[in-house]
Amino acid sequence: MVSNAELDRWNKLIYDLQGTCEGLESFLEREAEDLIDYMPFLEYLDQHIFLCESCGWWCELSEMAITEEVCICDQCYSYQEE
Ligand SMILES: [Zn+2]
Repeated sequence: MVSNAELDRWNKLIYDLQGTCEGLESFLEREAEDLIDYMPFLEYLDQHIFLCESCGWWCELSEMAITEEVCICDQCYSYQEE
């Protein structure tokens, strides 16, 4: 079980990472070195944000465009359509 204090910390980290294009590893090295290989956190993160394969920015999961082979955000998806 994850404590509420720990969850608050995870949420804050996810909030900070979202909207940036920083690599997860360098972000965690700076902000939360203890979580770099911590699977429960990484799984939690995967359920909230994702790294767009097209623009390279972290986006909210709700902004993910469902395509056959790639994980991209709605914005990149709409560019592709044009
Ligand atoms: Zn994108």
